Amino acid sequence: MLTIKNLRVAVEGKEILKGINLEIKAGEVHAIMGPNGSGKSTLGNVLAGKEEYEILEGEVLYEGQDLLDLSAEDRSRMGLFLGFQYPVEIPGVPMVNFIKTSVNEHRKFKGLEPLTAGEFLKLMREKKELVHLDSQLTNRSVNEGFSGGEKKKNEIFQMAMLEPKLAILDETDSGLDIDALRVVSEGVNALKNPERSAIVITHYQRLLEYIVPDFVHVLYQGRIVKSAGKELALELEEKGYDWLKK
Ligand code: ADP
Ligand code: MG
Ligand code: MG
Repeated sequence: MLTIKNLRVAVEGKEILKGINLEIKAGEVHAIMGPNGSGKSTLGNVLAGKEEYEILEGEVLYEGQDLLDLSAEDRSRMGLFLGFQYPVEIPGVPMVNFIKTSVNEHRKFKGLEPLTAGEFLKLMREKKELVHLDSQLTNRSVNEGFSGGEKKKNEIFQMAMLEPKLAILDETDSGLDIDALRVVSEGVNALKNPERSAIVITHYQRLLEYIVPDFVHVLYQGRIVKSAGKELALELEEKGYDWLKK
């Protein structure tokens, strides 16, 4: 599904990603862990198509296509989703309009008719229930005045509405209490199937008790310094990152 080859990326002239190699097959969940400032968000943002990054070298193939050549919109239409570490408030844009436009743009790309008002409301109700999102929130502007936890749940709600093939979740667990964490994880797990993959970026092992990864990678100073199975997350919880820094 996704192949990253020797990806080197700079921001404002500073090299942040220093040669990332990663292979993600359909159906797999990969966790990316690592200390603050390692480049985890940079990697997620580059994959999703955020501008301001300079690609110095390397290649990213998504379902055989050159991902870095595509606009962020096209990447989304092709099934890529990024849940932001810091979701943005968009005053004046009601959640309902935002998500309806997104869903119907995705449908158009697949050659499907837009959902009728009834179908859309039914889908929205179903997905809100999945993540226990307060029913009123979709009447407000995107993320405006949402609590930290509500913003994170809203990311998972949007993901559930769009049913991406490749979901990248950037520290969705940060700022969530244990109940919200469980709900969010259930939302992610509900999407799991053999055709869908996820990259779960997290600082802590806790989330990975609920979303069990097939592989765990440690990113440190712009490089993947260790890759292993899910047991690596437990080892990191116990020993921290210092042993890998050496
Ligand atoms: P992580 O998500 O692992 O905490 P980030 O990808 O956010 O790490 O950041 C990696 C490094 O890149 C940090 O040193 C950060 O300051 C720097 N960086 C990220 N984005 C920018 C930016 N837009 N401008 C300048 N430096 C940036
Ligand atoms: Mg960070
Ligand atoms: Mg980050």
